[in-house]
This record gives sequence, C-alpha cells and structure tokens, in this order.
Amino acid sequence: MNESVVRTRQLDKTYTQGAISVAALKAVDLEIKRGEFVSLVGPSGSGKSTLLHIVGALDVPSAGQVLVNDMDLGSRSTRELTDLRLHNIGFVFQAYNLVPVLSAVENVEFILHLQGVAKQERRRRSLETLSSLGLDDVVDRRPSDMSGGQQQRVAIARAIVSNPVLLLADEPSANLDSHTTEELCETLRSINQNRGMTIITATHDPLVMGYAGRRVDLRDGEIVNDTQVNKTE
Ligand code: ADP
Repeated sequence: MNESVVRTRQLDKTYTQGAISVAALKAVDLEIKRGEFVSLVGPSGSGKSTLLHIVGALDVPSAGQVLVNDMDLGSRSTRELTDLRLHNIGFVFQAYNLVPVLSAVENVEFILHLQGVAKQERRRRSLETLSSLGLDDVVDRRPSDMSGGQQQRVAIARAIVSNPVLLLADEPSANLDSHTTEELCETLRSINQNRGMTIITATHDPLVMGYAGRRVDLRDGEIVNDTQVNKTE
C-alpha cells in the first residue's frame, strides 16, 4: 500500500538563455506515496511548475533521476514517455486547455479516443466521470457556454477519466473566485479520498494548501520545508 508513485533524486534543472543560466531546481529529493495529496508551495519563480513538468514527463531534468511508478523516466524513449503521460498521468493547468469547438463530453472523450477505447465505452465512461463531478447539466455545452468553475471541472474530468495513478494540477485555482475555489478543492479531495488518486498541486492559494495532507515548500529551486498538515474538515 505504501509504495512510491514519485521519487526524485538530486534533481537539477538549469535553463540557459545565451550567457544567462537560471537554476530552477537544485538537488531536489522528493518521495510521494500512493494516495497522498501534496501541495507544492512557494513564491513565483521558486520552481513549482518546473518540478510538476518534470514529474509529468513534459520536461527533462538537467541532472538527477525521476521515477514515476518505479519507471526511471531518464531511460525511456519518447514513445514510452508519451504512453506514460497518456495512461498514467492526468494534468490540469490554470488555463483549462479545453478544445473550444468540442462539447464537454467530447473534450473528455478525446483522451479515451487517443487511448483507442471503443466509441460506446468512451461515451459511457466520459458521462460517468462528468456526472461524478456534478456536471450532468453541461455535458453538451461548449467551453464558451460554461462558467470558469465548470470549465475547470471538465478539465479535471478529462484528466481523471482514464484513472491515472497521478493527477498534477498547476495553480488550478488561479482564475477562480474563492467560492469556486472551495468547490474545486472539494472535488480534488473527493478524487483523492474516493478514488485513492495521488494528487500534486502547485499553488499560491492558502485555501488549496488547506486541503492537502502534505505541504512541500520550495524557495529558489530547493525544498526548504516538507510537512504533514491537518486536512480542513
Ligand atoms: P514557479 O512555478 O514556482 O513560479 P517556475 O518553475 O515557473 O516557478 O520557474 C522557476 C525558475 O525557472 C524561474 O526563475 C523562471 O524564470 C525560470 N524558468 C522557468 N521556465 C523557464 C524557461 N522555459 N526558460 C528560462 N527560464 C525558465
């Protein structure tokens, strides 16, 4: 039960532009177990997004090792990393990145389509996931006809429909008011508790931090604090 979903060892990331180098991550050692809900906290530029992107196989480290589900990402081909992202990792970004010309259910189905799931099964699972997030009323609406909070929840439905082991959320409340942020947090908590999904979120938002079970503080690319916290009831 207590296995690692994510392990990093001495992870470094340096961005170089011309003569200027920025050390975005420095010797980051982090282990996250199955079922944890972790918030990465730190001021803008502290390395939260870089860490999420590397853990999500969207970017590569300059040095060090990252394992997701015991898979060493550094030793995998581009094809294997694409498969890992498609099947095992769900992403939610602050810009929801929904396809504007598709309805909510079509946006969710799209991921299953990429996975080769048959049409009827795609529809059934997408509707079920949207329903579990309280989105029955918007299944046929396009993103432009939904509120920001609804779009965010459709983006979450899309991220979890294939039941990934890991859900990564980068500043998920950035564009939401406090009431909608609270609904978002309840949604994340229920995904964590009811589905047992491991969640890592990068956030500035104290409300979101309050829902996580563990808080990892980053400053200038280094972990400066790592604490278990009491969840808000
Ligand atoms: P956070 O998510 O905490 O705001 P980031 O991971 O986005 O932090 O950024 C960490 C550091 O890396 C910052 O100094 C940022 O300017 C730099 N950085 C991030 N992405 C790039 C990039 N693509 N090119 C150059 N520098 C970058």
